[in-house]
Amino acid sequence: MLDLASLTELLDQPRKIVITTHHKPDGDAMGSSLGLYHYLVQLGHHAKVIAPTDYPEFLAWLPGNEEVIIYTENQQQSAQLIADAELIFCLDFNALGRINEMGELVGQSSAYKVMIDHHLDPQDFDDYRHWDIHACATAQLVYDFIANVLHKKELVNKDVATCLYTGILTDSASFRLPNTTSAVHRIVADLIDAGAVNWRIHELIYNSSSENRLRFLGHCLANRLEILPEFNTAIIWVTKADLDEYDSNTGDTEGIVNYALSIASIRLAAFIVDRKDKVKLSLRSKGEFPANDICKRYFEGGGHRNAAGGQSTLSLDETINKFKSILPEYKKLLIQ
Ligand code: 5GP
Ligand code: MN
Repeated sequence: MLDLASLTELLDQPRKIVITTHHKPDGDAMGSSLGLYHYLVQLGHHAKVIAPTDYPEFLAWLPGNEEVIIYTENQQQSAQLIADAELIFCLDFNALGRINEMGELVGQSSAYKVMIDHHLDPQDFDDYRHWDIHACATAQLVYDFIANVLHKKELVNKDVATCLYTGILTDSASFRLPNTTSAVHRIVADLIDAGAVNWRIHELIYNSSSENRLRFLGHCLANRLEILPEFNTAIIWVTKADLDEYDSNTGDTEGIVNYALSIASIRLAAFIVDRKDKVKLSLRSKGEFPANDICKRYFEGGGHRNAAGGQSTLSLDETINKFKSILPEYKKLLIQ
């Protein structure tokens, strides 16, 4: 284990540092990783962000994006960086399985591991932990770590602020989820004061679709939305052929599940998509309904109460049927 004094001392000297995050990184994963990166490089550290896989095009404008190494495309270089690292920051995940094959490399590395995360049930692989399930985003915790743990708020510059703002924006579903507290809004105000151009970030994240992506959304809403009124549940399902027809890229399906949740009566929404090797589920819920419970118990996944994910090796049809067959067990919670 590493106590705060030892961690602070470690960070007093330039170190070889790897920052990594969960596979198929989202806005919080990349925003928190690059936010921390821009903080560390100011102190002279040799820091590298390694993403286990690629990530959506709508995050490619993030400052520092060109410096990110994608593990699947640069395995040797990534393995070397991990082996040489003195410190590894693990952001927005808390179980090594979430970083695919990189998990083994990180597990074997003699580097100190620092976990900054807001998911339930952390695995015990870290040496220092800044973890809080009540945080709306890992980016919120990175801000807290820099400003209130390391007392270096003055180093939150425009690049740090821009990346952390992106993480908070995307993981709080645009400041909508119940965990978007007044404290979060105060942090967001600090980030704007530090140079994050809030309206521009919204444009870059939410108004940067391709025509195909928008037409794909139209197809999902017109042809793939099924409402189950007796369970206040909506499902949107997508076949491999749909993905091909609309030339869907990484990230193009992100957020579609929220349209299903936007129907007034709906408490639980599922987006079920047939990927190459497995069927992936994205669940969203309103209020107290525990979407993560379904993912954890039935779909080898997890996440947060209102936003969770999982997978299945059954066919798409069988997965949809399995999901439907589970709903009676949750009926009481869904119809209250
Ligand atoms: P999404 O639906 O956007 O893929 O994921 C929503 C939330 O669920 C995210 O916080 C993500 O970390 C979590 N999540 C998604 N897929 C998985 C999974 O397979 N396992 C676990 N443990 N969490 C997941
Ligand atoms: Mn997150």
